[in-house]
Amino acid sequence: MPTATPTPVELRRPTALSAAGVEALNERFEAAHPTEAIRWATTTFGNGLCLTTSFSDTLLIDLAVAVDPDIEVVFLDTGFHFAETLDTLRRAMVRYELRLRVERPDEDAPDLWESGTEACCGARKMAPLDRALAGKRAWLSGMRRDDHAGRARTPIVQVDRRGLVKVNPLAAWPAAEVESYAAEHDIVLNPLLAEGYESVGCWPCTERPTDGDDARSGRWADSTRTECGIHL
Ligand code: SF4
Repeated sequence: MPTATPTPVELRRPTALSAAGVEALNERFEAAHPTEAIRWATTTFGNGLCLTTSFSDTLLIDLAVAVDPDIEVVFLDTGFHFAETLDTLRRAMVRYELRLRVERPDEDAPDLWESGTEACCGARKMAPLDRALAGKRAWLSGMRRDDHAGRARTPIVQVDRRGLVKVNPLAAWPAAEVESYAAEHDIVLNPLLAEGYESVGCWPCTERPTDGDDARSGRWADSTRTECGIHL
């Protein structure tokens, strides 16, 4: 009797995740190592999966390339990143030989000074991310529940506003384990972390070092804004 040939990942039918399916995956990964969620995502979605990063560190990259060295890594170059962030990207490229995709805004994209932060983030983060995710089925993000109170209920697996599967493998990882993994694996860190900026975004909107327990307190520090919109 002939042996059945496995269907290549790219030819498999898209996974339609029901609410019950999402719930079951979240239960499965809640206490598991982040690698388990990453392995599930790479196996399920193949080249239909990418990883997004802001190069605050390479923790998620380090975990993901151990599972799939060729995973597509997306960086949204808003035009307003710190030199330290771009340097972190370069060091990551040398260390991991990343398959990097850089998405940039349109030349005439509005900026925050003329049009406000909502329009600026919309044109420089959200629209480029939409372009990067066109044709994808799923994406990995480094969101963690510890980032700030508004992220305290971040699921490990969710369906985003586009209908794509979004996987946040680090969401439930305890801070102590994150720190020990980073130290043991010599994770590439943005130098601004050592200067007290626990969350690093664009320079105009990363206004001051972290204050207190809220890692993102220095972002849009003088406004009620807490998210750029790509995770909403
Ligand atoms: S974080 Fe600030 S500079 Fe960056 S895209 Fe948003 S508004 Fe513009």
